[in-house]
Amino acid sequence: MMKKIAIIGAGVSGMTAAIYCLKSGFDVTVYEQHSRSGGLCSGWKRKGYSFEGAVHWINDSGLNDPLYSLWRETGILGENVKNYRSDPYFVYTYNGTNICIYRDIDRLKAHLLEISPEDTKAIETLYRDVQTMRKLKIPLMDIRGLKTKNKNRINLPLLLNMIPQIVKLPRWSKYSAKEYAAAFKHPGIRKALGEFIVYKKFGSLSLLHTMACFMDSGVYPEGGSLNLGKRMEDKINALGGRILFNTKADRIIFEGNTACGLEIQGEKILCDAVIVTQDLLTAENLLKKPLNDKWIQSAKNDPPVQTTFACIGVRDDLRDVPYAFAFDEEISVGGIQYDCMTLTNYANHTDYAPPGCSSLTCSFTGDSYEYWKELKKNGTYAEEKLRLANELGQLLEKHLPRLKNKIEVIDIATPLTYERYTGSYRGAWMTILEKKARPSLPRSIPAKYKRLYLAGFRTKAPGGLPIALLSGFKASQYACKDFGMTFEGNR
Ligand SMILES: Cc1cc2nc3c(=O)[nH]c(=O)nc-3n(C[C@H](O)[C@H](O)[C@H](O)COP(=O)(O)OP(=O)(O)OC[C@H]3O[C@@H](n4cnc5c(N)ncnc54)[C@H](O)[C@@H]3O)c2cc1C
Repeated sequence: MMKKIAIIGAGVSGMTAAIYCLKSGFDVTVYEQHSRSGGLCSGWKRKGYSFEGAVHWINDSGLNDPLYSLWRETGILGENVKNYRSDPYFVYTYNGTNICIYRDIDRLKAHLLEISPEDTKAIETLYRDVQTMRKLKIPLMDIRGLKTKNKNRINLPLLLNMIPQIVKLPRWSKYSAKEYAAAFKHPGIRKALGEFIVYKKFGSLSLLHTMACFMDSGVYPEGGSLNLGKRMEDKINALGGRILFNTKADRIIFEGNTACGLEIQGEKILCDAVIVTQDLLTAENLLKKPLNDKWIQSAKNDPPVQTTFACIGVRDDLRDVPYAFAFDEEISVGGIQYDCMTLTNYANHTDYAPPGCSSLTCSFTGDSYEYWKELKKNGTYAEEKLRLANELGQLLEKHLPRLKNKIEVIDIATPLTYERYTGSYRGAWMTILEKKARPSLPRSIPAKYKRLYLAGFRTKAPGGLPIALLSGFKASQYACKDFGMTFEGNR
């Protein structure tokens, strides 16, 4: 008899776990509370416009990255998926000067030197640091004691290449992205590097890692989050698994401390093991006892990354406007004061907008959860979203006067929106990998329980798609090991 595994959540981590469990011979059912797959990795349509709701870039996904086989096998990326890598990735207009963040580090260096020769030393350091960081890769190793067909061995040349770079990690760990960028004298470059590439509270390690990934990967797959979820879903169906939508798991059933089923709307569904990808900080309602593991408790202190996110549809062809751009403008969003607006422009992607029109998104990162919650309570939530949409429209028209009277849609999502659709704690979609935090790999098993495995972005800061992917992969390996099954791994 095939062993039955129940997976809570059809986000990227849950679907990754499902794919590897299916390949290894489990009978897999994924339970998803929402009407579609993808979880936080999502997008939506309004009045003929398609809006990307998550993926801006996928890191650690280059052909030489150990994780590449996972991206390919899950259908997220691969030979059949067209990728976009706009260069410059990002343009910040500061006092009339365009500061371009090129993926090509040599071009970036030349560009920054031209703008600010007095920053030669800081530019040289950035150049060296990004090149060094390029050699550091997230390793892919099998869990100990696993029977597997295609062993993920420690890649010795890769490891040896990494050792001299690992020594430099503590130096970068000392600073936040903003502090690292403070070495630059030019205020525009300081802001472009310190605030836009990663959220300013992230450690400089994340900044350098992302810039290194821009060089080799950092891609945007065709069709974005929505298509990516669909490809994973198709894979699950093709492998004989199923996803049950609009099906919220209310509780996990235990025999002693061993997970053996789910309770869904009063019905008991028995299985041999459970993988939980619901945000761990809200997952205690599924269990009979809280998850007291130290690492889970400490995850509660990882500062959340939340966003007030605006989707904008305009009746104009913006293919000549950069893919990602920012400009200075004072605006209060979700009770937080911002001094600039950052936008992503999807005009160069097919089918995101009606002919001659363009779809844009604008993201305001910061913890605005309580602010929006209060407005929801006092009944002014919708009113404030409308006010904000109007103000955003005016500021966008001020920066791009050609958009006057051409803005057709502005749709605003808040942390409450993410909380409502995915159950993530306070609407978070990543967590901040702060300075001094050490990079490590996701955790999968809670100490108290058996046949219960954890995956998802919350299992390791900063989360995001690489952690969702890797944690789903690892959870499936633990399940295989416990049942003595051979892991049909990646190749
Ligand atoms: C605006 C934005 C921009 C982003 N940009 C990037 C980016 O550029 N690069 C990057 O790598 N990442 C990015 N991310 C982050 C990335 O999308 C997420 O970290 C990742 O998708 C999380 O996947 P997950 O599977 O861990 O969690 P989730 O996607 O939250 O999946 C959990 C799933 O479980 C379901 N669920 C929860 N509870 C239950 C229950 N009791 N029963 C049944 N189902 C349940 C939820 O509905 C959800 O579908 C972005 C996210 C957002 C929102």
